Amino acid sequence: VITYWAPYVWLGDGVRPDVRIQVYGGRIVAVEAATSSVSGDQRLPGIVLPGFANTHSHAFHRALRGRTHDRGGTFWTWRERMYQVAAQLDPAGYLALATATYAEMALAGITAVGEFHYLHHQADGSPYHEPNAMGHALIEAARRAGIRITLLDACYLSADSTGRSPHPRQRRFSDPNVAAWSARVAELRSTDERHARIGVAAHSVRAVPAAALPAVAAAAGDGPLHVHVSEQPAENDECQATYGMSPTELLHRSGVLGPGATAVHATHLTGTDIAVLAETGTSISICGTTERDLADGIGPARQLADAGCPITLGTDQHAVIDMFEEARALEMDERLASGERGRFSPAQLVTAMTGHASLGWDGAGRIATGCRADLVSVRLDSARTAGCDPAQAVFAATAADVDTVIVDGRVVVRGGRHTLGDVGSLLLAAIEPICTAPA
Ligand SMILES: [Zn+2]
Repeated sequence: VITYWAPYVWLGDGVRPDVRIQVYGGRIVAVEAATSSVSGDQRLPGIVLPGFANTHSHAFHRALRGRTHDRGGTFWTWRERMYQVAAQLDPAGYLALATATYAEMALAGITAVGEFHYLHHQADGSPYHEPNAMGHALIEAARRAGIRITLLDACYLSADSTGRSPHPRQRRFSDPNVAAWSARVAELRSTDERHARIGVAAHSVRAVPAAALPAVAAAAGDGPLHVHVSEQPAENDECQATYGMSPTELLHRSGVLGPGATAVHATHLTGTDIAVLAETGTSISICGTTERDLADGIGPARQLADAGCPITLGTDQHAVIDMFEEARALEMDERLASGERGRFSPAQLVTAMTGHASLGWDGAGRIATGCRADLVSVRLDSARTAGCDPAQAVFAATAADVDTVIVDGRVVVRGGRHTLGDVGSLLLAAIEPICTAPA
């Protein structure tokens, strides 16, 4: 049994001072009030929060950070740059980039990632000798970085809703048909269920024609199923033109929505869409820093939450990897759009930061007996956090204030340092060969 003591711990819906947490076998076995640490206790500084869940990631987009702002690129020119980066990656290069990216996530207090994986094949679209080589690289990357992964293998079949064949630069993402995708995903197995699990995704109603959507839903079984929904008005227009309904309605009629499903972005919704998402128990992954970076718009997060949808958060294209920033984006964007403060309480923001259920991980996201020992200690004495009310630390802290990160009982970050060493150097070594190569 390892015993931790912290001056502040997030328990239930708020902060308790002076708490001792006992950990054994990767689980929390006791949580108790203790006015001071005793010999044998490991002292965690600041406030201890449950480990964060990053419910939407494309690991390779990390190579785009700070490289897409020239000449005022639009969403579609950003996408061109993304294709250029994708074209440079092979399994070894992706392993290096994803390991560094997931290590950056660990530094930010993220203990589980939902990797929405669509970079499947060789640059010409032909499969690797091992057809899931890229997926296995992502699972191995998370293992090295010390965080859990739910690999959401994304079905990607067409260039648009009319079913046009993928553009040459989209061929790496694409399988010949939904049966071939499903057969490949069936071969994708986690060798260690404690660390990695397999889920599925439909890339979007642009990339998966309606006829293929029921097969994606069937492949999900009881596991997680994620899908990009209504990120851009153009996607809604195209879906209306092709099917005469919104993406949400199409996904609902195709059996995609439900308690295991997560709608990513959900930015441009109708009132009917919101009701359907709520009635089906679908979770939402809001990716605020990406949505603002790409000028997507502000989604109806408060309406979705009021309707009953669980709200989770994702760093998506990794313009920043900072779950505090994602949480604040949720509230601050609401403030700008509504003209009101206090749309999401600090407790609701912490709940959104810890949406592990969207990734199929039970017993995570809470500090309580029997739960996974995912603990994130955040300094309250930094230049950013000094003087803040611990109960409102989510409005002051950044990823740079994360001191210690424990994932399933294992210390991955201590004193703000990852066990792999200097994560900046790892990122540079992984990104430079990709971004200096000719497009
Ligand atoms: Zn995405």
